[in-house]
Amino acid sequence: MSRVLIIGAGGVASVTVKKCARLPQHFDEIYLASRTVSKCEALQQEVGADRVKGVFAVDADNAKEVEALINEVKPDLVINLALPYQDLPIMDACLATNTDYLDTANYEPKDEAKFEYSWQWAYQDKFKDAGIMALLGSGFDPGVTNVYTAYAAKHYFDEIHYLDIVDCNGGDHGQAFATNFNPEINIREITQRGRYWENGEWKETDPLSVREDLDYQNIGVRASYLMFHEELESIVKHFPTLKRARFWMTFGDAYLNHLRVLEGIGMTSIEPVEFQGQKIVPLEFLKAVLPNPGSLAEGYSGMTCIGTYITGIKDGKEKTIFIYNNCDHAKCNEEVGAQAVSYTTGVPAMIGAALMLNGTWKEAGVWNMEQFDPDPFMDMLNEHGLPWHVLECEGSPFTK
Ligand code: NDP
Repeated sequence: MSRVLIIGAGGVASVTVKKCARLPQHFDEIYLASRTVSKCEALQQEVGADRVKGVFAVDADNAKEVEALINEVKPDLVINLALPYQDLPIMDACLATNTDYLDTANYEPKDEAKFEYSWQWAYQDKFKDAGIMALLGSGFDPGVTNVYTAYAAKHYFDEIHYLDIVDCNGGDHGQAFATNFNPEINIREITQRGRYWENGEWKETDPLSVREDLDYQNIGVRASYLMFHEELESIVKHFPTLKRARFWMTFGDAYLNHLRVLEGIGMTSIEPVEFQGQKIVPLEFLKAVLPNPGSLAEGYSGMTCIGTYITGIKDGKEKTIFIYNNCDHAKCNEEVGAQAVSYTTGVPAMIGAALMLNGTWKEAGVWNMEQFDPDPFMDMLNEHGLPWHVLECEGSPFTK
């Protein structure tokens, strides 16, 4: 029998809960907890109390509160789908209760937009000694993109040299400006300086200053901008033959214009300001006025295309492949009432959890996705709504 406790009840969690609920062979009992319990209750009502057995309010910034909840529910695995700020308190609670852990985004301190695995990798010995496992970054990017890399290295190359992860949202939600996942986390990420790995060191660029126009399958040509993304850090560590590793995301002109204005007037700042006698963080206020990403699903048209270009050597010859998935916003809405960005994150979280629970991916310690055999994960992507394709390319499409 397996029992999971899912923490968080936002866009991503809603997909994971619904996917897990359909798979009683992997998830016998599902429990759901979040800061706002009414969101858990609404999800429980949608999915059925026979599948979501219990709902709870929890402040996951408080490790002791999470520990008490874990002791009450006694799950085999905690799936953390709250925000990156909560990763460490939830990992502490898992350590205190000897419970396995999974998340989809690396830890970030709230007062500093800093993305690195060092904080979570520091738990390696503690998790190993306790005989429990943490699987980090089981979303799409990070997550599936790490697994694509491991799959390519295993089946297509003797050695991999160049990696470019590309993330295109070719969809249209009809809003003037909205983010597709938590606005605070999203805007912190894209306003950072760009960073990529080349010849054994990190190189920095001004935010969104390097552009390539790339042709995306079933979408067309889109302006793509170099930025830092957390999976680069673990992938270059685990594939030391890589000479260069970069991440690109598409943004339309209207989106960038809005972002520049918001940045220019200080609305994306995480420094608190005094407002009518209280301290407020401009970015947190901005989140409150922007559309809730979960609400974008209705009427969202078009597709995402996220994938990994890899160039390397096979049998002495250089070659490039592209492994990717197209995900259709409207189809996701039809299936689980979500847009494709929540779907492409929520499904891999379910798959990572299923592989941990059935013992396929199981080892004490703290692990990134590319450290396990990619094949069972790739099979489940095909079975559960995120089919992938491999293209053998005529050289690399990058001009830079
Ligand atoms: P949402 O903002 O929609 O949902 C976050 C949920 O976490 C909300 O239910 C929120 O509660 C809850 N929460 C926030 N703070 C706390 C707290 N202190 N204690 C308990 N619950 C809390 O975010 P998304 O669903 O869009 O994203 C979820 C996670 O997925 C994020 O970490 C995000 O970075 C990650 N992600 C990963 C991707 C990938 O490909 N790897 C892609 C997209 C997202 P409340 O409703 O009260 O605010």
